[in-house]
Parts: sequence; structure tokens; C-alpha cells
Amino acid sequence: MRRPLAHQIKVGLLLALVLLLVNALVSYRNIRRLIQNERSVTHSQQVLAELEETLSTLKDAETGQRGYLLTGNENYLQPYKQAIAQISASMDSLTKLTADNPNYEQPLYILQQRITAKLDELQLTIKLRREQGFDAAVRVVRTNRGRQIMLNIRQQIAEMKDMEKNLLQQRAKESQASTQQTLLTFSIASSVNLVLLALVYYLFKHNQLQSEQEKETLEKRVSDRTLQLQSANDELEAFGYTVSHDLQAPLRGMHGFAEALLEDYGDVLDELGKEYTRRILISALRLEDLIQDLLAYSHLSRSELPLKVIDLTQLLSEVIKEIQPDIEEKQAEIKIQSPLPQVIGHHSTLVQVITNLLLNAMKFVKVSVRPQVQVCAERHDNWVRLWVADNGIGIAPEHQQRIFRVFERLHGQETYPGTGIGLAIVRKGVERMHGQVGVESQLAQGSRFWIDLRSPDDSATHNIASRR
Ligand code: ADP
Repeated sequence: MRRPLAHQIKVGLLLALVLLLVNALVSYRNIRRLIQNERSVTHSQQVLAELEETLSTLKDAETGQRGYLLTGNENYLQPYKQAIAQISASMDSLTKLTADNPNYEQPLYILQQRITAKLDELQLTIKLRREQGFDAAVRVVRTNRGRQIMLNIRQQIAEMKDMEKNLLQQRAKESQASTQQTLLTFSIASSVNLVLLALVYYLFKHNQLQSEQEKETLEKRVSDRTLQLQSANDELEAFGYTVSHDLQAPLRGMHGFAEALLEDYGDVLDELGKEYTRRILISALRLEDLIQDLLAYSHLSRSELPLKVIDLTQLLSEVIKEIQPDIEEKQAEIKIQSPLPQVIGHHSTLVQVITNLLLNAMKFVKVSVRPQVQVCAERHDNWVRLWVADNGIGIAPEHQQRIFRVFERLHGQETYPGTGIGLAIVRKGVERMHGQVGVESQLAQGSRFWIDLRSPDDSATHNIASRR
């Protein structure tokens, strides 16, 4: 359900992006056109100014000629001479300005012709005045040819100006249209983008809500399942406890009768009969051990363990007293750091945990090796780590996790007898005291088991301890 929504969000964002790009492209194109039009407008204005300038220069030349004709004074020719120079510059500039427009070719040519004719007429009259006097010059003026040429020039310039003005108008219109188009595309694209983004935002929120709801459902399912598992586990443990407990009586019967058989009928039984009876006795004993361990494990899970401050030095001396027969039997050497710190724990559980670790440390050694065990502790922040190190057979790294599970054993009964529950009890007991357990070891290099327990200095655990 969430996939399509996430997909819709992606599509929405993609669309918004594409639209943004299209908008940017169209705006770029329109703005370029606008700039081009602006340039063309400026260009047209230059052409118009140049045409105006040409006409005005011609008028200046004509004024200079008239002054000279009337007075014969050379000073009057000054503006005429200047105009002659300026006219050719103006014509060059006009040719350059209109070079891109072939429509100008013909009118510009005609204008050029007429200007040349006018300049010739001016030059002729000036020459006549200078060489033959006033009357000769005036005669030429009176032909009205000069006036006519000037009129034609005016007309030509007016036509060219009209042409340029038309162009100007057209460009102004294009500019306006381009501006309007830019504004329109921009407005439309921005509005659609806004709608799209609002939609994406809505989808995003919706998606978030959906995720939260799904998360809640999932959490609820997990907690329901945990509760179910917990109750199934409780039932199983209760069942295990009952079975173990109920097995004890018939087992004791088997044990007792096998012993009675050996004691009371030992002389009647032949050697094979005695051997069978002995085996029944050994099996019954092993089963009794197993049931004891199972009951201890089950008891650990089921009973309340009130925690309190425990002095490890004192507790260790109790344990040593308890396992003294095993120490002597194994001729083990056990070194204990003194003093050991205090911890938060449950007394009998901790006795059981440390007993199991010490018994294992003495048990899992090679036959010819004398067990050497060291017990020491160190503090980390609010924790105390208690180490039990031995010189035994060691444990391969790949087995170091599983040995803490029930019935996990790495050896056969013949080599190292046991129930496979000792370390499971250690772990369960330590966890019930809010601690952790682990081991560091290599094959044939001894093992270092550790348990972490809260230190009484940790105020948080102190509260736990005093509350219980
Ligand atoms: P048990 O001692 O009854 O076999 P445990 O649960 O105490 O069962 O231990 C599980 C297994 O872990 C043992 O069978 C043994 O293979 C291994 N183990 C436990 N303690 C040691 C140790 N100190 N050195 C080497 N192996 C050990």
C-alpha cells in the first residue's frame, strides 16, 4: 500500500521538476527574444537619427551655398565644406546600419544618387559664382533643379523613415507579445508547480501517517506475539517443573531398589546380574542429577529474586567451603583476589553461579594437569566484572555462545560427565540479577569466564535493590 504512495510522490516531484525546467527554458527563450527586440529597437532609432542627420547636413550645405552666392564671401562656405565631409560619413554609417536588411538596398542607392546630384548642383553654382559672378550662378539656381533635387531627397528620406518606423512598430509589438507570453507561461507553470508541490506535500504527509499507523500495528503485533510467547514459555516451564518434580519419586524408588538388590541379593546374583543392577544405579543417579539441575534452572526462571548488596569476599569463602571436597579430590589450586568488591545480587543464586563456574574450571582440564583457578574482579563505571580463569582445555570461539544454552555440551559423558545445564543456570541467574555473562578462550589455552553485576555505587540499581 505504501509503495504506490511513495511512487506517486516520486512522480509528482519529477513532474514538478520537469515543469520547472520547461518553464526555465521557455522563459530563457522569451527573454532572449526580448533582448534581441530591444537591440533592434535601438538599431531602428539609430537609423532614424542618421537619416535625420543626413537631411540636416544637406540643409547646412545648402545654407552655406546660398550665403556665398549672395555675398561672395568665402567664410560662408565653411558650413558647406563641413557638411560635405559629414555627409559621406553619414552615408557610410547608414549603409552599415542597414546592411542586414535587403529592403534598404534600393532606397539607399536612390538616396545616394540624389545626394550626389545635389552636391554636384551646389558645387556648380559655387564655382560659377566664383568664376563668372553672381548672375551666372543665380541663373542656374533659377532653373529650380536644385530645389527639385532637395524635394526628392526629402521625399526619399521620409519614405525610408516610414519604412524604419514600420519596422519599429512591428518590433515593439513583438516585444510586447514576447513579454506577455513570458508572463503567461511563467504564471501558468508556477501555478501548476504550486499545485503539484501541494499535492506532493499532501501525499508525503499521508505516507507519513500511514507509516506511523503501520508501525503502531507492527509494534502491537510484536508485543502481542511476545505476550503469547511469554505465556507459552511459562506454561512449558511449569510443565517441565511438574514433570521433573514428579519424576523424582519413581526415580528414588528405582535408586533404592537397585541398592537393595545389590545389598540384599548380592550373593544370589551372578556377575552379569550385579553389573546390570550397578548400571541401573548409575543411570538413576545421573537422571537424579539431571532432574536436580532442571529443577534449579526452572526455579531460577519462576521465582522472585530479591536483590541486595552482597560482599563477594564473604560469598567466595562460603562457596569454597561448600566445594572443598571437589577441590581436594582434584587437588586444585584456587587463588582468590582479596578483598573483592561488593555487588548487587541474590545470595543463593550468586552462590550457585560461582559454584558452577568453579566446578567447571576444575572439571574441564586434561587428566594429567593440576587445575589452577584464579578469581579476581575489576570495576567499570557502575559495574563489577568478576573473572574465573582456568588452565583447562579451552573453548573454540565458534562454540563460545552456544555453551550457555540448555543441554549444550562439547564432550561425551565418558570424557567429562555432566548435564549440560550448569552454564545455562549461570546465564539465567546472572540475567535475573540484571547482569551479563561471557567467556574469553582459545582451544588448549584455558578459559576466562566473566560475569558483570551492578555495583552498589550505581544509584539506579540501588533503587532496584531497595525496592525489592
Ligand atoms: P556440563 O558442565 O554439565 O557439561 P555446562 O553447561 O556447565 O554443562 O557446560 C557446557 C559445556 O561447556 C561443557 O560441556 C563444556 O564442553 C564447556 N565448558 C564449560 N566450562 C568450561 C571450561 N571451564 N573449560 C572448557 N570448557 C567448558
